[in-house]
Amino acid sequence: MDENIEKIWWVFPRFKIERLITGLELPVNLAFVPEPTDNPSDPLLYVTELYGKIKAITNDWKVHNYAESLLNYEPNYEFPGTGESGLTGICVEPKSGDLFVSMIYEDGGDVKNKLVRLKSKDGSKMDSMEIILEDIPSIKAAHQIQAITIGFDGKLYVNLGEGMINPKVAQDDSDLRGKVLRMNLDGSIPEDNPDPDSSVFAKGFRNPFGARWRKSDKSLYISDNGPSYDDRIAKVEPGKNYGWPNSMRENSLFWINFPEGITALDFMQNGEFPFGYEDELFVAYFGGSYVKGPSIKGKKIVKMKLNEDGSAIKSYDIFASYIGQNAASPCGLAFGPGGLYFTDLHGEKNGQAHASSGNIYKISSVIKAEGEILVPYTKENFGKCLCPGCPTHNECMNNRDERLFCAGGKTECDLERKGCLCGECPVESEYGLTEFYYCDEGAAKK
Ligand code: SF4
Ligand code: SF4
Repeated sequence: MDENIEKIWWVFPRFKIERLITGLELPVNLAFVPEPTDNPSDPLLYVTELYGKIKAITNDWKVHNYAESLLNYEPNYEFPGTGESGLTGICVEPKSGDLFVSMIYEDGGDVKNKLVRLKSKDGSKMDSMEIILEDIPSIKAAHQIQAITIGFDGKLYVNLGEGMINPKVAQDDSDLRGKVLRMNLDGSIPEDNPDPDSSVFAKGFRNPFGARWRKSDKSLYISDNGPSYDDRIAKVEPGKNYGWPNSMRENSLFWINFPEGITALDFMQNGEFPFGYEDELFVAYFGGSYVKGPSIKGKKIVKMKLNEDGSAIKSYDIFASYIGQNAASPCGLAFGPGGLYFTDLHGEKNGQAHASSGNIYKISSVIKAEGEILVPYTKENFGKCLCPGCPTHNECMNNRDERLFCAGGKTECDLERKGCLCGECPVESEYGLTEFYYCDEGAAKK
């Protein structure tokens, strides 16, 4: 644990942050192995580095060069600009452990998008590559091929930027740019696609960096970056039009007028945090990749609570924020063993694109680790808690689904004391609690 970490990252109360890996070259995205083994030398996690490398990280947290020189051109390191493109999206195929990876390449004088499948015998070094999709026009900038996911239906979903030069292609059904594609794992078109002759699943996107599946409604959510307005998050449904270039709001779940460079996103849905955070959406806000120091634009991670059907946001909180003096900024983000992991593209050294100073951080809950807390933060106690019926429990607490303050500590919401039901609560008698207003005073201590 870095002693100075709290001087460069602020994290949400009752969480801690640690730096696990440093020395990476522009680490863009993270992909955890869906069901890792206990063997220390087996892979746990893969990281794409923008200029053509993939690192494999094994269960013992050793870093391996899985693949190098995957780009067939020399990047020019310009941020913002043409240095922002390269090797981006990655996902692990659960059955084989193969990787699906997205990148751009040069073909004559043209720049194009491609998607490849990489195989490895031991999971730590690439042995072979198969091209799944290629020959789609692109550009050396953002707006290229990006996130790849495998849905609950076992199909491959691919975010394709519109290529910037002619945004109208996002509305052209015969052009794959500005779309989310749905394919079989070999790249063929599934018969049950909205159009059985096309891999287009949904259209009208601009620069859709991130994608993740939500278990509770079995749906795909993506981030999409706007021009000088309206970064957005959208629930992607078959055959729908998401509006670009006419609108960044059409069929969107959420947008921000002042763009902050929304990148990766993930849901807390496998018990990595206390269950009170179950189903919350965590989103990396990258900001200006060249801006040093804290910034009102990006450089943070935000958490959101969605309603059941994913049609609206119920609460929005800053979860982590960069407070150091460098170009560090969250980019890739994924839940993994015991917490939320994210990449910091530039890192703490000097913020130059060619510096090997990128990091992987982990944010984890300290609730379970705080031995002095008297009441365990369990699902059972959460169910017994009377807070939701209490006059002090206000709209802010309700939207965040906050309760069980005697275990989890005080709220971040403003509150006015209007009475407390703790004295009538079964948790109080079970643990011999004697105080009131834990929402205001903090957790009950041993
Ligand atoms: S701790 Fe007491 S005052 Fe606060 S919400 Fe719970 S019952 Fe109400
Ligand atoms: S004692 Fe208060 S905060 Fe704790 S579970 Fe009961 S009502 Fe909730």
